[in-house]
Amino acid sequence: MKTLLIYTGGTIGMMENPENGSLIPLNFNELQNYIPELRKFANDLDVKAFDTPIDSSDVNVSTWQSIASIIEDNYDQYSGFVILHGTDTMAYTASALSFMLDGLAKPVILTGSQLPIGRLRTDGKENLITAIEIATARRNGEPVIQEVAVLFDSKLFRGNRTHKFSTENFDAFSSPNYDDLASIGIHILYNHQKLLRKEKNRLNVHSVFQTDVAILKIFPGMSKAYVQAVLNIPNLKGLILETYGSGNAPKETWFINELQQAAQKGIVILNITQCSKGFVEQGLYQTSAALQQIGIIGGADMTTEAALTKLMFLLGKGLSGKALKEQLALPIAGELTTFSSLGN
Ligand code: ASP
Repeated sequence: MKTLLIYTGGTIGMMENPENGSLIPLNFNELQNYIPELRKFANDLDVKAFDTPIDSSDVNVSTWQSIASIIEDNYDQYSGFVILHGTDTMAYTASALSFMLDGLAKPVILTGSQLPIGRLRTDGKENLITAIEIATARRNGEPVIQEVAVLFDSKLFRGNRTHKFSTENFDAFSSPNYDDLASIGIHILYNHQKLLRKEKNRLNVHSVFQTDVAILKIFPGMSKAYVQAVLNIPNLKGLILETYGSGNAPKETWFINELQQAAQKGIVILNITQCSKGFVEQGLYQTSAALQQIGIIGGADMTTEAALTKLMFLLGKGLSGKALKEQLALPIAGELTTFSSLGN
């Protein structure tokens, strides 16, 4: 069976506008002129391109829905999927898709590039060709990768564990809290023990997201007006609270009171650390015990990208209150590490 390449846009398919030098997206026909290597895959690859390729800063829920519905409509005809996507929001899209594609048993590999395809030193060709190779890899008659992953430079990561950490390096992504799924050198070395294997059921795509959410990043000296402005957003249903260290926040009464009032209004609050590596462990310090007491959920080692898309996804499924809190704390697609899995 063939691989389906889904082209959404991003730097990989951009060219400099001769008038002002800014980067603008190419359509797929223009893009493939820069990658003659694609002809080698001619019999094994089909392409579905967005009519209007986008810079991934313009990604929104409808982009995720479009990608997921292409995968759903073509799931049985293809052995795997490669998505060309801008790097800026790739970690959000990878996370969102990992939740949407319930029952996924085939590879969905996102990749892109730091330099446009027209540049001599572009990283786009290698990324694209490696992503296609990974999407076709099989072992014992089964796809090696059966989840949403991000291929960038010399690494393959679980998609919902990634974070874009560099605007400069070719290795632009990291997976701070989960081992790489593969390292790419002369050979592609898969980390078989770390690959997601779930019970196989049919692909079931859930496409509804609830976007009445917000991120409140705390900082020393933040004003009450700032906190109140975020917590009083009309219709707010869920909040990512970006805290210090292992989930710590000021103990000041006004701050805890504001959060408590929000929680009492039914806003579900998920505590995610501003550190890129490690866990939220509410109750470890006095400065997080109060958060625990007012019903804020600890987000373990989730990235902000995974936490936010998961919150929007679970709210979109109609969950609220206790059921929502329970689901937030459990892994859906390998996006968080549970203490029990660490043997604690
Ligand atoms: N702004 C671009 C995008 O995310 C950056 C990139 O692709 O690297 O679409």
